[in-house]
Amino acid sequence: MKSERTIAKRVIPWLKLQLGLIPVDKRVLITINDSNFNRLPVITLMGSLITFSHVLLFHFFTETASAGEEYWRRGIEMTHITLTSIMLVIALLSWLQKKRRTGERTIYEMVLQFIVIGATFIGCIYLVTLDQIVTASITPFLVACIIISLMFQLRPILAIAIFSFGYLLFSSLIGIYQLNPSVVLSNRVNALTAVGIGSLLSFMVWKNAVRNNTQMNYIFQQQEELGRINKRLAILASSDGLTGLQNRRMLDNRLGEVLLSCAESKTPFSIVIFDLDRFKEYNDLYGHVQGDDCLKMVASMLLGSMNFDADTVFRYGGEEFVLLLPNYNAAEAFYTAEMVRTGIVDLHIVHAGNPSVPFVSASFGVLTLDTVTGFTDADILGRVDSLLYQAKSQGRNCSVQGIE
Ligand code: GH3
Ligand code: MG
Ligand code: MG
Repeated sequence: MKSERTIAKRVIPWLKLQLGLIPVDKRVLITINDSNFNRLPVITLMGSLITFSHVLLFHFFTETASAGEEYWRRGIEMTHITLTSIMLVIALLSWLQKKRRTGERTIYEMVLQFIVIGATFIGCIYLVTLDQIVTASITPFLVACIIISLMFQLRPILAIAIFSFGYLLFSSLIGIYQLNPSVVLSNRVNALTAVGIGSLLSFMVWKNAVRNNTQMNYIFQQQEELGRINKRLAILASSDGLTGLQNRRMLDNRLGEVLLSCAESKTPFSIVIFDLDRFKEYNDLYGHVQGDDCLKMVASMLLGSMNFDADTVFRYGGEEFVLLLPNYNAAEAFYTAEMVRTGIVDLHIVHAGNPSVPFVSASFGVLTLDTVTGFTDADILGRVDSLLYQAKSQGRNCSVQGIE
């Protein structure tokens, strides 16, 4: 009893998986459905050409010797004309739908697909039924089974339903014109083989589609993940972990770009460098952690209330910051530096060891170049740094300007 239950526990999920009853990944299913629909215009166009060639063949090249044969010829011709028309209409409708399609597949697309499957199967069964007037062969039925299984990637359970329906229809119609009971029996057995082959092929096509699309999906997901990781890495490499500002490496890159654009547009260029005053002492008095908090507060003020964008303000080193101000003239640059200087003092971060004010303050070097031509990046950084040095020696918490 127990082992029966264990077998059932293993066999039933396996069977469900094989029949396609356990839903595969939704994205995989969408890709399979999409590719089923995307091939519809070509399949139906090819189908219409094939069926139309049959119309011509039967109309112009088939001799009939009796009224029965003539009835058969006309029946075959009419069936092929009907199939050609259906295929052409579906080719047109599916092509139009493919062109205007925006989102996921619709019921309308499923209906178009099932019309093609239904028309192929029913048409071929009707051809076989008529064929029995002149022959015992069931070739069109076999062809229909193969076409349906190979052209569409159908869930096995759905394929079995379609083939069962086809077989039942075939079995009930085959005896209409075939009066020999042995031939009817033989055809029914042969049709069973055809349905078996169709189901097997369909099963293989489905398995293959699921495997391929799952792998594709996996590769796609990996690529997306890789893209996300690369983005994160680029951000990490370019920003300073403590303050979130862009780092020195990014300043070097950006400075080159900015100088180039100022040279091209012949506009002035300004740069501000500032350094927190007596910051070593701040750390000694209040601890390194509070020192870090202080740096964060200054950075968030620069990005927040001062509203500088990330391409303007950089953390140059320990407690040194840089503002890149392309197109700023000397007055605008000096005003900006003073605004930041008073902004830092106004944060009122107590600093008992600062000689100029009892709060954290900074000293500023402000350099403006009316034209950047002739200056290298290193020249500019060297000059502005010496202005900062002057501000330090003039008593700190002040800005020293240079214009060239
Ligand atoms: P000055 O007014 O001349 O600039 O004096 P200073 O003490 O600020 O200059 P100094 O260059 O002697 O010291 C800079 C200090 O900044 C030393 C270092 O401990 C501190 N510092 C640099 N980076 C960080 C940081 O990321 N966090 C903290 N808490 N302190 C830092
Ligand atoms: Mg300092
Ligand atoms: Mg310093």
